[in-house]
Amino acid sequence: MRVIKFGGTSVGTPDGLNHIKRIATLTQEPVVIVVSALSKITDTLIELADATANSRDTSKMIDAILTRHRKAITDSVPENNQQNCLDKILPIIENLKREVATYNTTSPTQERLSQLHQNIVCYGELLSSVIVHNIFDHNAFTTKHIDSREIIKTSKYFDRHIINFSQTNKLIQNNIPNQGITVMGGFISSDAETKQTTNLGRGGSDYTAAIVAAAIGASQLEIYTDVDGFLTADPRVVEKSTLIEKIDYCETMELCNFGAKVVYAPTILPAYLNNIPTYIRNTYNPNCNGTLIHNCDPCDTPTPQSITAVAPISLIEIKGRTTGLNYKIFRLLASKGIENYFARGDEHTTLIAVTEKNCQAAIAQLNTELQEHLTSQRIQNIVVHKNLATIAIIGNNIGSSNCVQAAIFDALKNVNINVNRKRISLGVNSISIVVPIECTRPAISTIHQALFESEKSCAKTPSANETFGCHIAIEVLRKMVAAGDVIRSVSAYFPEKTEQRAAILANHLGVEIDNTQPDNCLVEFEITDGVGRFRVIEDITTTPYDSNGTILIYSARYREYPLHINL
Ligand code: ADP
Ligand code: ASP
Ligand code: MG
Repeated sequence: MRVIKFGGTSVGTPDGLNHIKRIATLTQEPVVIVVSALSKITDTLIELADATANSRDTSKMIDAILTRHRKAITDSVPENNQQNCLDKILPIIENLKREVATYNTTSPTQERLSQLHQNIVCYGELLSSVIVHNIFDHNAFTTKHIDSREIIKTSKYFDRHIINFSQTNKLIQNNIPNQGITVMGGFISSDAETKQTTNLGRGGSDYTAAIVAAAIGASQLEIYTDVDGFLTADPRVVEKSTLIEKIDYCETMELCNFGAKVVYAPTILPAYLNNIPTYIRNTYNPNCNGTLIHNCDPCDTPTPQSITAVAPISLIEIKGRTTGLNYKIFRLLASKGIENYFARGDEHTTLIAVTEKNCQAAIAQLNTELQEHLTSQRIQNIVVHKNLATIAIIGNNIGSSNCVQAAIFDALKNVNINVNRKRISLGVNSISIVVPIECTRPAISTIHQALFESEKSCAKTPSANETFGCHIAIEVLRKMVAAGDVIRSVSAYFPEKTEQRAAILANHLGVEIDNTQPDNCLVEFEITDGVGRFRVIEDITTTPYDSNGTILIYSARYREYPLHINL
């Protein structure tokens, strides 16, 4: 079975709805279609809930919602289904009106307000899923429509609702038929005990699709959106961003956690745990295969994949002897559903970045939780730095790569962005940096240029990333020459793609390669006296090379102690 999810941008246009029909019927396999609300409808519903809570006039808003859905029906639902579709839509709109009319605005509590919001925002997916169900000819296809609240169940966990997997999995398995086309709304759910409407958080339809795919053991999960897949950066920020064809589950999780909005962060875990190949594809571009998220072969080579940013954020600096208290701090934030977008713990400071929206709540919680330590002066104070952004560069093993770090910080320096050392955090697969908010775009652009664009201009191999280390060396060589240094020789050990990488280095230095790479043995590559040569190495441990690969540059200035670039 396939599970395919369409975002608001896909269900929001007649063209998009036609593509949904095409994509769902591409194969004979049974398919579950998970849909978001029509684009911008969830935002309108949030405004509607606010207007309701504040006793403002809501009739025009509800009329506009109805008009938008009526238009979608006339534009995209086949004529013989239109009346049936409208007959289902109108009672849903009546329920929405009732929800608004019966809300008692006197003595509002936080809990009642939150329930009002949850009751109202679910209407986007309730309406869109009925329309998508009706775009299919019911005589030609076996179809089923499901109100997702009946099968996606949540339970209260501290202040949040989280999926109750034991109930949800059973309900999905019992209610989704192993044939035909099933259509359901994403994002919406209900409380396993109280049956009250809940939801999975903004952007949560992706998560619904992954939960369903995992429960039914889908052959694949496909998330359709308005871009070709995961790109090296958000295309709205970096025009030259390019498609990532394949990416590992864990790297994707990091990317999403650091704000790459293309997929809602919790989505990847169910797919990862059940090893479901997951594609991100463009609804409007059938010629593009998209990005495949899967279990990549473990590989040590540092490989930057993408840059992402979260802004505006506030950096909370907890000063004092925080060692031993960090678990408390992070558990507290997690239990309150406050995501953190940067974390660094040194002996005398812990730094955490939270969205500006969550900052006040985070500070209040921290002050309460750490009260005794503030009184005893173990914690001296908690300081907030505002108007900042977190930029994260994600990729296999890049946290420990000197090359990647050098490229990033050189690039930032070139555009006069100096990063305080304390505002850098290195993970295994991530490097995150906190910068002033106004630096976000220039920082992303310059890092993108350094990591992905300059590389591309000379990369002749299928994947630019595979030759990454070479291009860092080339940048270094360029800079050395520009600074008046004279290159004497370069020698390198590449555990993979040796011939391609050697060719790139030779090409840059304008030299010919004198011999071919000997087979089945360890080799180094050396450029000296205007020629490149491969040479057999007996034992890597007796050389200056690192087993992940190293490039050594000898120059007039670096004669005895060569510049050492570990890949
Ligand atoms: P949908 O309505 O389909 O769920 P979203 O708006 O949630 O779509 O996500 C798609 C958007 O994510 C794209 O239009 C793009 O601007 C943005 N985006 C952010 N980071 C990336 C990235 N690294 N690669 C691709 N798209 C990205
Ligand atoms: N409609 C919801 C939102 O806009 C869920 C989604 O689109 O995934 O957040
Ligand atoms: Mg989305």
